[in-house]
Amino acid sequence: MIESTTRWSITRRKIFTNCARRYAIKYVHNNNKKLIKHKSRYNSPWNLMISTSRCIFFELLTDLHRGVIWSEKLIQSRIRFELTSQLISFGITDKKISNKKKNKLILYAFIRIKKILCNSIINKIVNGTIKEWSFHDRIKPVMFGHIEVYCSPDIVYRTKSKWHLVRLSFQSERIQPYVELELCSMLLWSKYNQYLPNIQEKFALHGLFYSGGKWRNYSLIPSQRMLQESKQLLEKDVHNMNLLQIEFMKSMNPNKLPFANSNKYCIRCPYKISCPKFNF
Ligand code: SF4
Repeated sequence: MIESTTRWSITRRKIFTNCARRYAIKYVHNNNKKLIKHKSRYNSPWNLMISTSRCIFFELLTDLHRGVIWSEKLIQSRIRFELTSQLISFGITDKKISNKKKNKLILYAFIRIKKILCNSIINKIVNGTIKEWSFHDRIKPVMFGHIEVYCSPDIVYRTKSKWHLVRLSFQSERIQPYVELELCSMLLWSKYNQYLPNIQEKFALHGLFYSGGKWRNYSLIPSQRMLQESKQLLEKDVHNMNLLQIEFMKSMNPNKLPFANSNKYCIRCPYKISCPKFNF
């Protein structure tokens, strides 16, 4: 018996909407041995570069909060150390990845961080124009009805009486049809949003997304209607995730579920090796 899904996060949503097979392998196993076998412990060097970029950027913010500013050299050496550790932890030792490729990944992570430091919001934090700010992780969920929602903003800052909630994505799709509603999910994190009739005066939402070699800003002033629609989206997602689970339980075979439409999405999929889409 597989328990029904009660969790929602942007990552889950993105995987769910892009590929049912990948979603099932990643999230629906419930200690079933056969399914766990499917779920090879593999992460691509590219994905590890993305997680390294994020991790190092948050370390940089931690120090910045204490008034310590990092040099470019320090950023590079921290990236090198973190990426090497992550690669080794996934069995990608120096025998399996060339120095040239590793250096390229270090450069890509460095470019991401260097460019985000020039972004107008982040730059104001770094140069002290924005004085009141904090950063958060998405490890702790908030409850929305029976759903655990992983939706905290990455950065929060205040200007006058307005709270700005910022989400960062170090690897993003260029076209995001639901970006407004996805950003609105950050409002669930703020326990005050429920009691604010004047939500548009209190909050501004920002998404900083890296795609095509650039950081792009998406900013919006939320409304009660958008918040309401965002909650509906979330409930609908969880409902559909549960329908997929029911479908999956009939055969317990992820290969019978729909595959990603776009081959581009498959490039960095950790479950590609066993995927029938590429093995027929
Ligand atoms: S390789 Fe593509 S189709 Fe296969 S599981 Fe991964 S994303 Fe889905």
